[in-house]
Amino acid sequence: RPGENKQLNAQLTEAHLKTTGGQVVTRFPPEPNGFLHIGHAKAINVNFGYAEAHKGICYLRYDDTNPEAEEERYFSSILETVQWLGFSPYKITYSSDYFDRLYELAVELIKRDKAYVCHCTAEEIKQHRGGDEKGPRSDCAHHNRPVAESLEEFQKMKDGRYAEGAAILRMKMNMQDGNPQFWDLVAYRVLYTPHHRTGSKWCIYPTYDYTHCLCDSFENISHSLCTLEFRQSRPSYYWLCDALEVYKPVQWEYGRLNVTNTILSKRKLLKLVNEDLVRGWDDPRLYTLPALRRRGVPPQAINKFVRELGITTSNTTIEVERLENHIRTYLDEHAPRLMAVLKPLRVTLTNLPEDHLEMLTLPYKPRVASMGDHQVPFGQSLYIDASDFRLQDSPDYFRLARGKTVGLLHVKHPITCTDVKLNDAGEPVHLICRYEDGRDGQPVPKPKSYIQWVADCHAQGSPVQVKDVRVYDRLFHHANPMDKAEVPEGWLSDVDSNSLHHNSHALLEVGFWDALRRWAEHTNALQCVENVRFQFVRIGYFALDKDTVLPPKDVVLQAEPASSASAAQLVFNRVVTLREDVRK
Ligand code: ATP
Ligand code: MG
Ligand code: MG
Repeated sequence: RPGENKQLNAQLTEAHLKTTGGQVVTRFPPEPNGFLHIGHAKAINVNFGYAEAHKGICYLRYDDTNPEAEEERYFSSILETVQWLGFSPYKITYSSDYFDRLYELAVELIKRDKAYVCHCTAEEIKQHRGGDEKGPRSDCAHHNRPVAESLEEFQKMKDGRYAEGAAILRMKMNMQDGNPQFWDLVAYRVLYTPHHRTGSKWCIYPTYDYTHCLCDSFENISHSLCTLEFRQSRPSYYWLCDALEVYKPVQWEYGRLNVTNTILSKRKLLKLVNEDLVRGWDDPRLYTLPALRRRGVPPQAINKFVRELGITTSNTTIEVERLENHIRTYLDEHAPRLMAVLKPLRVTLTNLPEDHLEMLTLPYKPRVASMGDHQVPFGQSLYIDASDFRLQDSPDYFRLARGKTVGLLHVKHPITCTDVKLNDAGEPVHLICRYEDGRDGQPVPKPKSYIQWVADCHAQGSPVQVKDVRVYDRLFHHANPMDKAEVPEGWLSDVDSNSLHHNSHALLEVGFWDALRRWAEHTNALQCVENVRFQFVRIGYFALDKDTVLPPKDVVLQAEPASSASAAQLVFNRVVTLREDVRK
């Protein structure tokens, strides 16, 4: 290995400190070949967080050296996601910004006799590296070719005089080193794919191994933070900086983050999308960051989750329940409460006059006065959730059944079911109940439980009809779908094809429009509907899905239920259950 020149390093470090003023400089360097996932949230927090904690700066650098895999939509999604998590890059850069400089340094590397052009086939390279049997390794015929020859050949590569695969530039390292990262790594390859930023200017592209450390060096990165799999690249990273005598950042590794019951690999995600097992890269059952965002997961909960885990130095698979606990904690504090019924069952309180009307004033959040109140009408006609009624009663059942009494949340007196109307299929469609306010002199029974309900008082606005409430189960049955012992048939067989449940008749209390108005008053963006989150009492936490159609902002601001309702199509996602043990 080229000896470390201590004196030179001291000079380079001094120059670096002069430029940066000793500031911490980090970078988040995604390859724009896919969407970011929950694991990247750790990388983002590590890099931006470390810089922030030390009053430093962090770059967002697109590592765009592989034009075949890169797409515009990935670039924009990555930036949006970083910003969504609450971080602002000091600067947005691209590895391709440095293609000229990287090329010049490659020429310099050849001149220093530390790189050579090689014409071996992939198979020959593999054999020289010991083959599958991990046999003896040897230099190839090109390893020791004269510098002048490599310079000429490299020029030919650049001029497009070689077909793809016919020539590569390799770093002249040490085939006898025990670390494969020293087996004459490839620095440049010929590729005739146009690049999204440099077009067809180049037909040679630098590799990750060659590019990454040099870009870090150009940007005066003080701490090059990367995941564990790069540990054995650390010496080769230093090797290249030393070989070119450029400033050498310090590399530190941290463990990758995974969560249970999901997969994060791009190739596998693509398979799920292509085989229609999910509805796209942002299907709320996935753990890409766009999917979590769409689902209504608050970025604050994600940041807290990854920060609580700390910068571990081992790869970890964390139980998804831990993430869910953070989401719950956040929403418990921030999401206003509303009453909703997913499967409405009509109730008439026949002993109340048809025009009976009480207006209940309910806080959006008990104990959080600053969130305000909303008005809930109560009268003769209302809906409860079908799951709170049973035709077949039993002594251990405490909700509604024929002859049973239940409390309606926030309502003064309980109700008792006196009769049930069934449809042709024998299912309950209408409950006749008595409002137990003691007006007819009967003793008021004490309810054993309270259920939510939605009023149907036309004078005060009909209940809000929801086009769809989507409830999700885990996409994979097993904690680790990749585990051959747990899932012998392979990860794809572990997909729960029944993990998305639609509710197309759900009703919300009319106070929804008031809640939406309050939200619209405080934000310019009616587009970011995933920020509209609620706790549906007794059901779970929900957020508007991007399939939602909202009325124009001026209509929302009037909070006029009738006109809002006619222009709206509401779609909700369940973000998370109310409690850890409730899955459905
Ligand atoms: P994948 O294999 O999922 O595509 P990657 O490492 O190729 O991941 P990049 O876009 O190159 O993805 O990653 C950008 C940065 O995020 C890198 O520094 C990488 O180490 C880090 N990173 C990627 N996945 C994780 C993870 N699961 N946990 C922590 N950091 C990660
Ligand atoms: Mg990568
Ligand atoms: Mg990658």
